[in-house]
Amino acid sequence: MNRHPFARPRALLIASSVAFVGLLLVACGETEAPVRVVATASVVTTTATPTAAAPAATPTAAAATSCAAYAKAADPFLLRVVDKQRALPSDFTAPDRQLVDDQWAVPGFPGQSMRAIAVEPMVQMLSAAQAQGVRIRIKSSYRSYSEQATTFQFWVNQLGEAQARRESATPGNSEHQLGTTADVISANSGTGWELVEQFGALPEGKWVAAHAHEFGFAISYPPDGEAITGYVWEPWHVRYIGKPCAAEWQSSGLTLVRFLERLASAR
Ligand SMILES: [Zn+2]
Repeated sequence: MNRHPFARPRALLIASSVAFVGLLLVACGETEAPVRVVATASVVTTTATPTAAAPAATPTAAAATSCAAYAKAADPFLLRVVDKQRALPSDFTAPDRQLVDDQWAVPGFPGQSMRAIAVEPMVQMLSAAQAQGVRIRIKSSYRSYSEQATTFQFWVNQLGEAQARRESATPGNSEHQLGTTADVISANSGTGWELVEQFGALPEGKWVAAHAHEFGFAISYPPDGEAITGYVWEPWHVRYIGKPCAAEWQSSGLTLVRFLERLASAR
């Protein structure tokens, strides 16, 4: 399905050898952003996440409510389109963020935070995978506007603006600013925990593709979706949209951006 299933994005080759003002860079086509190795004080609250494997959510739970009904009651940012044309305000800061227990973070990348609504589903998803012998962890999650600005400029300096726009989001245009998006990856992805397309062909990546929607997550950037999304395939990039909508998104076969556009036009 993917044209270059084992291609390693150029940015990754650079990221692996470049230290940048004390920040560790994560290459993620839409989202590459500096990852703070030390958790910052910007997280509103902390939460104790389950230390034992949480029970897997049942797909049938999603059928109880339609996506349309869910959308009416949902926080408008939960289902908002964020892409290269439609930016978030520079002063938008994802509210009610919580820390995800570090046991679910890629080693060396602690202090991951997401909006409260997405934390438990994320932990449930990673727990369910682990219970099946599939080890997946979070490498990056919430990114502020200013972090994205810093990151994008870094990639412009490294790659030139045209290529940077293909692999990185400009500030305001990253789904990570929503606080409901994360990059989940395995240690078997190329070299260690790097975000590489190869993940999509591995058992871990296939598990995410097959099961993420059961926990309310959609994969924003599918194989061969660049003409629509503007980004190359990112099998690690998941966004929480709630179980009812994730179930309908999965069965729709649409890219997430088209699905959300259709949902918005129906509201
Ligand atoms: Zn991402």
